[in-house]
Amino acid sequence: MSNQLSDRINSLTPSATLEMAAKARELRAAGKDIIGLSLGEPDFNTPDYIKEAAIRAINEDYNSYTPVDGYVELKNAIITKFKRDNGLTYEAPQIVVSTGAKQSLYNVAQSVLNKGDEVILPCPYWVSYADIVKLADGVPVEVPTSLENDFKMTPEQLEAAITPKTKMLWYSSPCNPSGSIYSKKELRALADVLQKYPDIVVVSDEIYEHINYGVTEHASMAEFADMYDRTVTVNGVAKAFAMTGWRIGYIGAPAYIARACNKLQGQVTSGANCIAQRAVITALEESPERIKYMVDEFKERRKLILGLLNEIDGFKCNEPEGAFYVYPDVTAYFGKTLNGVKINNASDFAMYLLEHANVATVTGDAFGNGNCIRISYAASVKEIEEAVKRIKASLS
Ligand code: PMP
Ligand code: GLU
Repeated sequence: MSNQLSDRINSLTPSATLEMAAKARELRAAGKDIIGLSLGEPDFNTPDYIKEAAIRAINEDYNSYTPVDGYVELKNAIITKFKRDNGLTYEAPQIVVSTGAKQSLYNVAQSVLNKGDEVILPCPYWVSYADIVKLADGVPVEVPTSLENDFKMTPEQLEAAITPKTKMLWYSSPCNPSGSIYSKKELRALADVLQKYPDIVVVSDEIYEHINYGVTEHASMAEFADMYDRTVTVNGVAKAFAMTGWRIGYIGAPAYIARACNKLQGQVTSGANCIAQRAVITALEESPERIKYMVDEFKERRKLILGLLNEIDGFKCNEPEGAFYVYPDVTAYFGKTLNGVKINNASDFAMYLLEHANVATVTGDAFGNGNCIRISYAASVKEIEEAVKRIKASLS
């Protein structure tokens, strides 16, 4: 039988982060000593007080289907969290809990985009954005930014990218992969541009909110009264709470978008996992101070890896203010031949590091910026030190 796959799936790019992680796993299984700095996954365990809430939920027989948009108690905890941490006021019909922030983003794209609608993605953007947009028949419009501007889009660039077909502006702050954070003032300047275009919806992905190293305070687009009614605030527990595998994300959104996401989810996955949701109630109800020890540790690792990478000729790094990635510009290596391998682009460079340094990173191409590679420092100090040592040796 011939290949019966849909055009949709044939044209879908596999997630580069997950693909690189799988490749590293495979090589490890084949006996290679690979250090994985490709995946954005904290190397901490989920904190005990959250695990205990899950164990309680199992013992209390939380095992039935959950409400499609999430347990009432979890939605209340999310409402309280938005108020406490972000100064945002949401009502229960504006909240939808999903199986990870990735599903939240997918729901929003499917709910809002029509064929040909354009979505402005400041580059670099998180790996899955462009394909989530394409799956909804939307058109990603990439806006390049520069290391000199800390990889942030200016209001002028936003204005220039807007066309009559623009339906959304979509970004993460803190940014995966650059670690940049838009200040309140910078967001306000972008919001000012959008005043002329009242139909553009903003997707503000704030999943790294708590992983902030204290240079720029976290701000949300929905804080501005004139943006609140058209902003979807996306968040989740994977990163800050070391809960990647628990798969819980959520949105605070205009009620009509939340209703649409709820309807979609009801036909696709139903409500998110019961035990994970009970655990997340505790995660969000407790003070963010309880997870600060992880952020402090990431901060130390950031300092370490930046110091080490800056000693390597040809690596140019910005100083990430949040998240746990560095995104060095490695164009100095393009056109060079290393150990007989011609490096034409960031993908060649990342592959070279995998094969010749046994270190897994991710090509910048996956994030819409082909000058860089992404290195995750959500790894132990020992791994970071060894990985950079190997990278340096493989390049010298
Ligand atoms: N947004 C960004 C910016 C991310 O880095 C990730 C990766 N976890 C997600 C969304 C998806 O998060 P989740 O694991 O909750 O699906
Ligand atoms: N968000 C993480 C990353 O960027 C996890 C992988 C993924 O979900 O794609 O590495």
